[in-house]
Amino acid sequence: MNNKLINHLKELLKKNNYLDLSTFLNVILYNKQFGFYNSINFKKNKLIGKEGHFITAPEISQLFGELIGIWILQLCRKNHFYNINLLELGPGKGTLMKDILRVFSQQKENIKIKIHLLEFSKVLKSFQKENLKKYCHELKWYNDIFKIKDQLNDNPTIVISNEFFDCLPINQYKFYKTKNIFTKKIVRLDENNLFFDEKVLEPEDIPFISNIIKNDFDKLNDETTIEHSPFILSHINQICDIILKNKGANLLIDYGKKDPYGDTLQSVFKNKRSNLLDKIGESDYSSLVDFRNIEQIIENKNLQHYQLQTQREFLLEMGINNRIENLSLNANQFERRDLLSGYERLVSKRQMGNIFKVNCFSNKNLVVPIFKL
Ligand code: SAH
Repeated sequence: MNNKLINHLKELLKKNNYLDLSTFLNVILYNKQFGFYNSINFKKNKLIGKEGHFITAPEISQLFGELIGIWILQLCRKNHFYNINLLELGPGKGTLMKDILRVFSQQKENIKIKIHLLEFSKVLKSFQKENLKKYCHELKWYNDIFKIKDQLNDNPTIVISNEFFDCLPINQYKFYKTKNIFTKKIVRLDENNLFFDEKVLEPEDIPFISNIIKNDFDKLNDETTIEHSPFILSHINQICDIILKNKGANLLIDYGKKDPYGDTLQSVFKNKRSNLLDKIGESDYSSLVDFRNIEQIIENKNLQHYQLQTQREFLLEMGINNRIENLSLNANQFERRDLLSGYERLVSKRQMGNIFKVNCFSNKNLVVPIFKL
């Protein structure tokens, strides 16, 4: 347990009586002094990787980042972009960006890239600096999405993210259909312990949540959990505004589904699921991204979104089979075995292939490789 963080939470709960789930998650993940992203000892690779809390696609295999690099290169070629901003949200150790830049280092056209990184954690920033310095592109860090748009030049901007949106804090609501009551999940303090509770929704908050479920009303069961992230909303809105201003596209990879239903919040400590309130400040929290909600935000912004693909479909369409054959030609038997097991994890329907999805949106009239309208 992270005692300083727990004490800080208890103080907040004494003052405020309760915290919304999203406020609670925001504090435990992002508090500047004691939050998970700044207090854990990343130096021992504790966050991302085989020894850490979780492992991500770019850390599993170079194939992932290289194919995204090829997608970005094709997008630049098709739209005659020679100077771009490439913005990554939550770059982790910088591995995805490194693999993309390696692809760009072999291009013939000399497309120039300015790199922008949204990263909250100081320790991960230092990993990123170390990993990316040899590619000599201009690098700029931000720790707040709201500060990016006004600092960007006017060049077309491509925004990418992998496993970023699943970390953002969510709220959970419950719909008691037979009684026609909505509640929201909150955290309270009982003598000395934190616990989850439910609070009946204030009348002024009901239209918002009724709007989310309106087309599904007949299908919903009693006591359905509904998830919504105010942070996803604000981040997607900001990206939309950047693309409206600069032109460009967004490629978002995450695990998720096309509805807001079900309790999907989980905490993971050292690659194993933990109880949500047991390892506060030491576990990573995530939830399934609701891609339907993201598509609605985009539609309201007059941008174009494309059909959601699974990670499997995206990687196969981008030619992962040819790529692995080429890489295998120059690999020894151990490297070949690693390549194949990485391929299996990324593409197999039983592993990451189906549950991970790829969302793409862009300004209208952009030519976007492989995605369908
Ligand atoms: N994309 C990486 C890392 C995913 S982990 C990979 O695929 O390996 C999530 C990343 O997002 C970490 O770098 C974390 O520090 C960062 N992050 C999480 N929430 C953030 C926020 N609100 N603002 C900025 N960075 C954030």
